[in-house]
Amino acid sequence: MSAAFNPNRRRLLGLLAGGAALSAAGWSAAGPLLVNPCRAAIPVALIDSPWLKQAWAGIDPAEVWDCHVHLAGLGDGGSGIEVGPQLSSWLHPLHYAQRLFYMNAGCAHEAPGKVDQAYVARLLNLCDAMPAGFKVMLFAFERFHDGKGDAHPEHSAFYVPNAWAAKLARDFPTRFEWVASLHPYRPGAADDLKAAIANGARAVKWLPAAMGMDPAAAQCDPFYRVLAETGTPLIVHCGEEKAVKGSDTQAYGSPLRLRRALDAGVKVVVAHCASLGKDLDDDGKIRPSFDLFLKLLAEPRARELLHGDISAITQRNRSPAIIRTLLERSDLHPRLLHGSDYPLPGIVPLTSPAALARAGLLPKAAVADLDLLRQHNPLLFDFALKRLLCWQGHSFSPAVFQTRRLFAASHA
Ligand SMILES: [Zn+2]
Repeated sequence: MSAAFNPNRRRLLGLLAGGAALSAAGWSAAGPLLVNPCRAAIPVALIDSPWLKQAWAGIDPAEVWDCHVHLAGLGDGGSGIEVGPQLSSWLHPLHYAQRLFYMNAGCAHEAPGKVDQAYVARLLNLCDAMPAGFKVMLFAFERFHDGKGDAHPEHSAFYVPNAWAAKLARDFPTRFEWVASLHPYRPGAADDLKAAIANGARAVKWLPAAMGMDPAAAQCDPFYRVLAETGTPLIVHCGEEKAVKGSDTQAYGSPLRLRRALDAGVKVVVAHCASLGKDLDDDGKIRPSFDLFLKLLAEPRARELLHGDISAITQRNRSPAIIRTLLERSDLHPRLLHGSDYPLPGIVPLTSPAALARAGLLPKAAVADLDLLRQHNPLLFDFALKRLLCWQGHSFSPAVFQTRRLFAASHA
């Protein structure tokens, strides 16, 4: 990929895309390096980095499954991926810019006609730098469906078929696991779910605000029964959805709407620990989604069942107070799971090790190595960053990173 490197074009593209994304996110000052340079091998300078050594100390790589990894592409390589009108048209310049930015983060934008393959090749390449046993869990992404269970491609920001994620896990079993995405209102959804689990799906991913399912609806019950019987976790994006804009279904993302799934005995993982946005509390007041997630964790129905993934919590649009709480609450660590939200850690302006160090959450001396590491391997960068997070002596316990235990337990 780097053979086709064209610094001027990439810089222009990156500044365009980055400028739009940054101003939309309300950031005024853009750093000089907005674009991921897409290097591959770990530089010699980092091989002996004490920070990298510290990141892996006491961790069994075979127990580390990064449980939040997105597949992206354009559908140009037989993947069946569809990019919705919002993400591909200049009429929606912000979304268009976002897509270019995602592609840069996955280093797939310089491979015309081969973007789907280039994205996967890059991901495998990044996994090669990880110790044997480490795996990533690849997300399929369901379309938006209405209340009757009919799909609406025109309202879908993007679509990644289950078949594509399943095929990649089959083709590269030492590095990839896959996560199905299925709408529970579809006719035959429970049977499709059984088939996906029989085909190796380790979990199911929902993004209610973008896909249109209400986790509190009775229509979900047959789906929940299959998840509970097979022990298959349901990963649900809660809180405000910034990365993908769907229809006007934001309220479906409240953590409190997951009670129905928990009461049905389903293992639930709240993506990003609901670290962004606000939702309606039981008393009718609007509260931070993260507070509602903590409230739900404390309810007896959630014991043994409710988890949170720590992907994206280090992004600049999250409050440092959330990281402090998660580090301090070691009683919750057995219920937290490492996920990177790849390709987002590769989007340079989204995460700032220097800002985290200034907030007292990261050793200042680790910043330079982490910045360099990200240029070469965003997956390893995200893992090392979260391993090194520290607040007044509190770090995430190794259990947070040894995520395999939850996902390998499901059975068809
Ligand atoms: Zn995500």
